[in-house]
Amino acid sequence: MIQTFLRGAVLFAAAMLAGCASFTTTEGGVPIDASHTATGQDSRVLFLVLHYTVADFPGSMKILTEQQVSSHYLLSDGSPPRIYRLVDENRRAWHSGASGWKENRRLNSSSIGIEIVHPGFVPGPADEQDSQRTFVPFPPAQIDALVPLIQDIARRHQILPERILGHGEVTPSYKVDPGPTFPWKRLSELGITPPWPDAARVAEQRALFDAALPDITWFQKTLARHGYPIEVTGQMDKQTQRVLMNFQMRYRPEKYDGQPDAESAALLDVLTRAANPQ
Ligand SMILES: [Zn+2]
Repeated sequence: MIQTFLRGAVLFAAAMLAGCASFTTTEGGVPIDASHTATGQDSRVLFLVLHYTVADFPGSMKILTEQQVSSHYLLSDGSPPRIYRLVDENRRAWHSGASGWKENRRLNSSSIGIEIVHPGFVPGPADEQDSQRTFVPFPPAQIDALVPLIQDIARRHQILPERILGHGEVTPSYKVDPGPTFPWKRLSELGITPPWPDAARVAEQRALFDAALPDITWFQKTLARHGYPIEVTGQMDKQTQRVLMNFQMRYRPEKYDGQPDAESAALLDVLTRAANPQ
């Protein structure tokens, strides 16, 4: 009889505990029942945006922790490189204010930002354009430290490979980081970003475009289809030069003058067809 009573009491306590497990509170202490979970949900993080700081490590840390700009992560150029978390992933960091990709705008709300301590370009004349600058290579050890961080963030938030982008790609009007020396091709080979445009198909397409270069409207429409924030004006204007330059920095880093040419057209054509097979 006592044993039955005890067993009953134990079962009752266990049931209470199991029941209580779903009762919790908000961080502010309001009681809530968390026993039901919706199937329809995903991470608020849709994009990963890569930057360089154009400052040394102490300067970068100071700017990103004391000024009105920030990033979730800062990757040092020390030996070995160290990853600092400056903003919790659940919160918004201020790294890509005026930005856009496809239908998305102002990506701070929907992205994680990584700043890489890096000087950017070799200092030149004050009026030097980004398309004329010489950019500094990234130390291999820094990239080796960056790769697992990107992979970890992308996996946890299920970020699509095509949404891992450079700041210059989402803010082409005045940004170019992480610049033409960033190893985008390696990220592609590692499966982190989409497959690199197939060389044979690019060569084939280039032969056609060498014979007849598409007009500016084609470039603008195709760059927009790929995701770049660009207006279709039909004119070779400054915004088109900046977007093309950023495209070339990523996919054809040997020449990034921002001018339309057959090779850029072929790369863009193969890239956008692979993403949207017709
Ligand atoms: Zn940036």
